[in-house]
Amino acid sequence: MKNTLLEITAVDKSFQRPDGRALKVLDTINLSLHEGEIVSLLGKSGAGKSTLLRIIAGLLRPTSGKVSFASSASASHVAMVFQNFALFPWLTVLENVELGLEALGVPEKEMRKRALDAIDLIGLDGYESAYPRELSGGMKQRVGFARALVVNPEILLMDEPFSALDVLTSETLKTDFIDLWIERKMPLKSVLLVTHNIEEAVLMSDRILIFAANPGRIAEEINVDIPHPRDRQSPAFRDMVERIYTLMTTGIAKPQTLGLRLPGGEIGIDEKLPRVSPNQIAGLVEALAAAPYNGRADLPALDQALQLGTDEIFQVVESLRILKFADVAQGDVMLTTAALQFADADTQKRKEIFAEHLMNNIPLAAYICRVLQDRPGKRAPRTRFITRLEDHMAEEDADEVLNAITSWARYAELFAYHDNSEEYSLDNPTG
Ligand code: ADP
Ligand code: MG
Repeated sequence: MKNTLLEITAVDKSFQRPDGRALKVLDTINLSLHEGEIVSLLGKSGAGKSTLLRIIAGLLRPTSGKVSFASSASASHVAMVFQNFALFPWLTVLENVELGLEALGVPEKEMRKRALDAIDLIGLDGYESAYPRELSGGMKQRVGFARALVVNPEILLMDEPFSALDVLTSETLKTDFIDLWIERKMPLKSVLLVTHNIEEAVLMSDRILIFAANPGRIAEEINVDIPHPRDRQSPAFRDMVERIYTLMTTGIAKPQTLGLRLPGGEIGIDEKLPRVSPNQIAGLVEALAAAPYNGRADLPALDQALQLGTDEIFQVVESLRILKFADVAQGDVMLTTAALQFADADTQKRKEIFAEHLMNNIPLAAYICRVLQDRPGKRAPRTRFITRLEDHMAEEDADEVLNAITSWARYAELFAYHDNSEEYSLDNPTG
């Protein structure tokens, strides 16, 4: 086994909410980082990835658990690259890079030499006296890399370092980085890369840890043993991307389902419904039902064709799945018979199909209908449901879940919500 550089044991992190309750963001994180590997943390936004990096960097304390480094002094053994570059606008490139060393008390002459070396290494030669505003995004991020590398860290932490860049620029930067890594030009021993981009994770890493949300946890570990340079079009690469797509859409990285004990028995509702509008759902069903897909599509291909962004595709596909409008398997999404009928139907028929699927597959929708049915005037205030949900989830989450279900139910004309009076009602559902 390779030298272990970093060991994270049973790390939990909770934040205190304004109302005093705890928001659990990280749950029992176990992770070790070995010499010579690039490891990706792959997960959706809000999953707690940045929080974990900040804990490793010593910027944040875990609520419980342990972070231990093989080397004696931890802080100078890690450096971080940020998504938004985090450069000082009033400092030149050289000064921004030197900044990393100033804090360490390195003598000025050595500081200058090391900064120039890092600038050279990362391909910024000739830009030493430029200010950040004069640089493109790609060049700015090169400064971010130089500033991190100049301190000779053992471990480089990267928090979505390529996601603020356009496709071509980020591609170039990734390839350059991998080349430097493979040729051992950087003084690094290991890299931990946070990303929400599956292809990026497969391109760059030796190991991928799939991060699930609510609370953040490591759901799966995947070894990537494809030799460098990696060809995105090769069968091995495509297979791995598809496998991860499937994992991330069919369960393991989904929010945990919450058991809600309500009058009338146990009902399960998803802790977080995807934030997706009925229009997006109808749009994807239509696109999938039509040629060239005819009801079945390869998820990565769909992602590229629709240009929605991976995160958004996940959310819409996840909505189709929980509404039983689609199945996901082996990286493919397949419409169900009901969804094909939906695609063919007129507006009124679509609403009926949607309503039926909402009632049958989303317990919260059925619960709200049942409560309204039993109440005088078939009306109930919003607080009635918020209070109920808050027994089981945080206030903002309750709000979000209720908003999501409301927009779906409105479309389906299942029940109505009156914004002014903050009331739900069964009658006059279009009002
Ligand atoms: P990711 O990087 O995966 O997108 P983050 O680690 O940034 O996720 O955030 C995870 C969750 O923790 C989010 O719900 C975020 O709102 C919450 N969070 C992050 N930092 C704080 C903080 N300082 N106080 C309260 N909540 C926080
Ligand atoms: Mg983040």
